This record gives sequence, structure tokens and C-alpha cells, in this order.
Amino acid sequence: MKRSRFARRGALNRDAEQLARLAAGLAASSSRVEDAFWEHRLDEAIDRLLRTGNEETLNHALDHLFGTNGRAYDALADQIESRAEGGVLGAGNGEFDVAMFAAPLLAWSRFTIPSGPLPGGALAAARTQLQAHVLAAGAKLALADFLYSPDQLPRGFVETWRLANQLAKAAVDDKDARIDPRQLPETTRFISDTRYLIGAVLAPRGQALFRWQEEDGSREQSATQWSVQGGSALQPLFTGCALEPLLPEVFHAACRNADQGLRIYSLRAAVAFLQTVLNVKPQQLRAVVAPFHEERLEEYRVGFTLADSSQVVHGVVWPLLGAEDETTDSAGQIESVLEETGIGSVVVLEQRFPLEFCDDCGMPMYPTPEGETSHAELPEDLPQAPAHLH
Ligand SMILES: [Zn+2]
Repeated sequence: MKRSRFARRGALNRDAEQLARLAAGLAASSSRVEDAFWEHRLDEAIDRLLRTGNEETLNHALDHLFGTNGRAYDALADQIESRAEGGVLGAGNGEFDVAMFAAPLLAWSRFTIPSGPLPGGALAAARTQLQAHVLAAGAKLALADFLYSPDQLPRGFVETWRLANQLAKAAVDDKDARIDPRQLPETTRFISDTRYLIGAVLAPRGQALFRWQEEDGSREQSATQWSVQGGSALQPLFTGCALEPLLPEVFHAACRNADQGLRIYSLRAAVAFLQTVLNVKPQQLRAVVAPFHEERLEEYRVGFTLADSSQVVHGVVWPLLGAEDETTDSAGQIESVLEETGIGSVVVLEQRFPLEFCDDCGMPMYPTPEGETSHAELPEDLPQAPAHLH
């Protein structure tokens, strides 16, 4: 199972019941012919709910299946995501495949990572690079004129579907789409974070949308070229930031890859950041890794200290993603990423910590080498330290 949800109690309404039944049929099907039957009916039901903004029924059906039929849950989640992020426009000979995609950009900075409305120059540069390295020849493109932070991404399937529709309509004319920044929440500032370019790509039905679907293309090639050329074209927008562009993909897949990528990136960024602000070598740093629980294991937190001090100077959260739980070797993964940075030592604590946050600023509390928790705070006498890290 990809995502975790808490099952809600209560009877299913008729629409949710129908979704659950169709998804169970699809999950149990053993042929492509039968798959197509169930998928077609499921698509019609999902499309109707998306069109009428019925987020609740979609979630209700998912919640129900999560507790009772894991394979049907996965089938339904996949189908809802794919209907929300793309589909077919037009009719007859004028049919087009269209997909909303995201281009995740991992960044870290001592200063501010930009977000918000995109200047025309940056938008044009992104368009040129995407067309050269990521999209199929002749595919039409619409980009949102907004650089999204994670808390500004569409929340829920209906919002995702609405944004996908707005972009798809703009893609018909190969034009970018205006996003009203007043509709989006403020961004929380972090040392390392993800930003997203979001767009829609459109091509005649059955034709390639992405460069790697073409005979002489490949994902590896697109990833490298986008990372290098796209990265340098976007660098002016990210003044004072380190930037790592990930391969753009259809929306939900891109978001999942970005979440995975950011966990690793944030650990590396933390070591690089501390090297810069404390003027130390990685060998002079220590990381303390520990599991944090609420009702169940929620996340790992990593407290960074100088090798000869217990004061936590910086912290990184490693959230569990998808179906990960206490049986996943998260501590081992964290340890190996940190060891690659050349850090002096990594201490893994076995004890369970409660999911605590700072009473004053709401930031997470991090583990200390002594097995306690502490607020992360840079020493105050730093030469050019940022005033407050939060
Ligand atoms: Zn605080």
C-alpha cells in the first residue's frame, strides 16, 4: 500500500460503495480485457465525483478499502490519481492526451529559498529547457506562472483536478497559465526544501508526451540534461541557493519522488550548511538519530552537534513515507547517507521519543547524545549567522 490513512467508521454512501465495489472488481481481475471493463466504469464514476467536487466520497471509499482490501485500495488510489492529473481532451479526430506534471527542485540556502509568482524570464527559460530535454517534440506545454512550495500544492484530488484542468486548457494554446497568488498560503521557511514547477503537456492521442517515450530518448538522458541545463537556466532565480532539479514526471509520481529525494537531500544539506556557518569540517560534526512516536512510529529526527558538545545546533526530520513503518530500516538508510558526507560520527538511539515540538515556535525537538530532546539552536556568537533559523 502506498499511502496510509486512518479508517473512518460509518456506513458508505451509495457513490462510495460503488467505487469500492468497482475497485475490488479491478483488483481481483486476472485479465487485461476484464481490467479494461472495470477501469472504464471506475473512470466514469471518479470523473463525475471530481467534476462535482465530491472529495469526501473519494476519501470515504479509500478509507473503507484501506482497512478491508489493500489491493483494491491501491487500485482505487492509482485510478483516482491518474484521473485527477490527466486524461483525454476533445473528441473524434481532435482528441488529445494531456497530463499535469511537476518538476521538483531540491534546494538549500542559508538565506531564503524563493517561492511565489515566477518572473517572465524564469518562466521562459524553464519552458525552453523543458521543451528541449523533457517533453516530446511537438508536444504543447502550459506552465503555471508560480513556483510552488510543498504547502502550496493543491490539497486533495479535486483541487489537483481543477489545477490540471486550468493547465490543460492553456496547453491547448501552448500558453502559460496565470495563478492567483492570493489563493495560496504563505510558505514556511526551511534550510532545505522542495520547490515545484507545475505544468501540463498535451499531444495528439497516442503520441509521445515526454522525450523518453521517443525512440532515441531515455529517462536517464532527460534527467541528466534537465539537471545540468535546466539547473543552470534556473539558477538566477535561486540566488544564494544550492539547487538540484529532479526529473519532471506526472504530478503524483513527481511529488512522491520529491518527498523521497528531499529526505536524503536535507541530511546532506544539513552537513553542508553547518560546515559553512560553523566553519568546521564534517569530521567535527556528530549526528544523533532517533525514532519519534505518537500512537505509532511517525518519523525519525536527526540532531546535529559539534563532536565535543551536546548542544543540538541543527535538526532534520526524516518522515516515514507511504507504507514505511517500524519494520523499515530507516535508521540504517539515514546512517548510510550521513556517513557518505564524511561526518565524524552517527549515534543511533533505540529508545522511543514522544513526538514533541517547541512550545514557543512549534519547531520539532531533536534528540541529544544523552538521550534527551532539545531545541536546535546555533551558537549565538557566530560571525554571520542568520538571526533565527526557523
Ligand atoms: Zn523554538
